[in-house]
Amino acid sequence: MKNSKIDYIPISQPSITQKEIDYVTDAVKSGWVSSLGTYVDKFEKMFSEYCDTKYALTTANGTVALHLALAALGINQKDEVIVPDFTFVATANAVKYLGAKVITVDIDEETYCISPKAIEKAITLKTKAIVPVHLYGQPANMDEINTIARNNNIFVIEDAAEAHGAEINGRKVGGLGEAGIFSFYGNKIITSGEGGMITTNNHILYEKMKYLRDQAMSPEKRYWHTEIGFNYRMTNLQAALGLAQLERIDNILEKKVEIFSWYHNNLNNIKGIKLNPKLANYRNVYWVICIELLDFSENQRDNIMEKLKEHNIDSRPYFYPISEMPMYSRVNTPVTQLISRRGINLPSYYDITQDQVLYICDTLKKLL
Ligand SMILES: *Cc1c(COP(=O)(O)O)cnc(C)c1O
Repeated sequence: MKNSKIDYIPISQPSITQKEIDYVTDAVKSGWVSSLGTYVDKFEKMFSEYCDTKYALTTANGTVALHLALAALGINQKDEVIVPDFTFVATANAVKYLGAKVITVDIDEETYCISPKAIEKAITLKTKAIVPVHLYGQPANMDEINTIARNNNIFVIEDAAEAHGAEINGRKVGGLGEAGIFSFYGNKIITSGEGGMITTNNHILYEKMKYLRDQAMSPEKRYWHTEIGFNYRMTNLQAALGLAQLERIDNILEKKVEIFSWYHNNLNNIKGIKLNPKLANYRNVYWVICIELLDFSENQRDNIMEKLKEHNIDSRPYFYPISEMPMYSRVNTPVTQLISRRGINLPSYYDITQDQVLYICDTLKKLL
């Protein structure tokens, strides 16, 4: 293989320090291995403080966090829920679990996030909720989305699975709608192995979600259940890992900005390349590096990814449009369709070095 000196550069890997090892070891030694235990409480408390929300509730993963929030809001088969066409499939699937109709709409070219104009066009009398996604770490236009929602009496649930710590005008995502959901999967900004969190300021919603998360068991009468609940709890072991990561999040996010600046300095002036958005008033947390190859077809894009792999560089294609998948209905979303097939994500994990990023940028430039 060419460049045998270069070790394989993965797209993502978690940053595990002694703190993570200590907390997880402590949790497992304590005997509190399931969902009771001090780390769950500490993780929830610190996360709610971090997001500046009144409540935070741990869940088994980000997908069920979204399902739980929508279920607690009473979304059902009669309802329609608007989601961006450009997102990870879980956003739409969680709506589908409730039997509600998934309405996929187009994105804003600049932010890659759901287009407020497209939302307005998609609203009907059946619309119950909008799930904006803060894609790849860039917040969606929550001001406009919230205005539309208020005018139409619709819930807004933020899918912040990729955007821990992202902000609009100094206000953290997760606290900008009725509820926000996060993921702690191994490749996300911070991880608990598998895991999720729901943030909210709404006390009644919080209590309802907590109840449904724990099999909807009556608080007064053990093993008495009045509706169909779920077991969507996080374990104390996961929470121990998550808490250690959360205590390091400022440092982790600083590193993300630094890594983005390395890519930016090397690729910003190359014609035909567009990097992650950098907009006034928005704090993008650069979950992954986004490279849009403006003049490329899908085949040419896939070919570049193949070549990068031969040079020991891992990459990912942008998400495919949800509406093109067989479980969902075809809709016309020209921006999503164009962008999704010409973008790639490049490595941006905590321990990547400036030399490695230079090597990736040089290789990419040669290939183009
Ligand atoms: C990762 C992700 C989810 C789901 O999170 P899991 O923890 O993997 O279930 C949902 N939405 C988006 C946008 C994601 O990236």
